[in-house]
Amino acid sequence: MIEKPKEINELDWEAPGGAPSYSPATLAVHGFTPFDPHTGAISVPIYQSSTFRHPGLRQSTGYDYSRCINPTRTELENTLARLEHGQYGLAFATGMGAISGLIKLFQPGDHLIVSEDLYGGTYRLFTEFYAKYGFQFSWIDTSDTAKVEAALQPNTKGLFIETPSNPMMKITDIRACAGLIRQREGLLIVDNTFLSPYYQNPLDIGADLVVHSGTKYLSGHNDTLSGFIVHSKADIEEKLRVIQRSEGASLAPFDAWLTLRGLKTLAVRMERHEANAARIARWLREQPQIDRVFYPGFMDHSGYALNRSQARGNGGMISFYARKPGYVPIILKQVSLILFAESLGGVESLITYPLEQTHAAIPEAMRLAAGVNDRLLRLSVGIEDSGDLMADLEQALGRCSLEAP
Ligand SMILES: *Cc1c(COP(=O)(O)O)cnc(C)c1O
Repeated sequence: MIEKPKEINELDWEAPGGAPSYSPATLAVHGFTPFDPHTGAISVPIYQSSTFRHPGLRQSTGYDYSRCINPTRTELENTLARLEHGQYGLAFATGMGAISGLIKLFQPGDHLIVSEDLYGGTYRLFTEFYAKYGFQFSWIDTSDTAKVEAALQPNTKGLFIETPSNPMMKITDIRACAGLIRQREGLLIVDNTFLSPYYQNPLDIGADLVVHSGTKYLSGHNDTLSGFIVHSKADIEEKLRVIQRSEGASLAPFDAWLTLRGLKTLAVRMERHEANAARIARWLREQPQIDRVFYPGFMDHSGYALNRSQARGNGGMISFYARKPGYVPIILKQVSLILFAESLGGVESLITYPLEQTHAAIPEAMRLAAGVNDRLLRLSVGIEDSGDLMADLEQALGRCSLEAP
């Protein structure tokens, strides 16, 4: 058993007044360790080393082999834990790596309730692999708490939600879900990728585990993949560390550093993403080529009040229905500033066609019931000038009227 490494900042740095009281904007900039105590480096070094020399038999610096533990990754894990108000953070190579890890906390025969409109990759992982291994899943519209309650079974051990959901932007009541799953001594897991810890901290209101695709807002620049689990349960931490060490999906040092670097601007980016999204969502609603716009910042969105009660913002994601399916290929071809690519949360605005991209793995009947149809487009609003973004959409929508009137 190797002693847990001394956190670098225990050596000679103490946050004035205790770091956790800092606002998220400050935490994101300074991270867990604001400078390297050995050299004074402001940027955390990239420990690009697969292994670490031991001083002697049964002695360790705290670091042994980088699949298990790496100082750059540890700094990022501790920073994420602080940002999400958890005790522990674990970093994985991708968001799916994190989700593959946490699903192993459950046993064959366990039943999990899962949001019906969630990230397609999570759906695929659960149905194509874990269902085969004897896990049971119910796909439920978790924005309706009564449906969640009705889906509870004696063997329900987990509730996995996204709020806002992907791509329909439905809001699920985190507190109510926490109350329901607690009756079964199960775990509430929230995929907090869409709002990021800048706008929502599910652990504060009853969630047991938070997961992230750090590929999105956390790193923020469409230049790296990463994934996280944050939580505060010591018994689960031991299990998750074994899973992380064993599975081989640990985050690489350079990608950890890129994520740390991206995180520094989380606050300014999230505020800009949201301000742009609010303007563009309002504007899209007025366009004759658009049928419906889904954005939790609309006061007439069914989840508006609930979202305000559990989050500090509405985020930068918008989904909308084009009036005709024929508009979809025209919009995707004609946008030029906005890039037609899957993913979200980066500084560049991206447009996605969930039916054939992010949600292709979900069976048609289920997709349609959730609202993911052939007219749905999803926009990840970047931090460009919102006027330029609207002008780009306007010219693309203008072509729809010309080419498919
Ligand atoms: C992208 C995404 C994931 C998967 O993350 P990767 O980093 O692509 O593996 C999981 N959940 C949500 C909500 C996502 O957007």
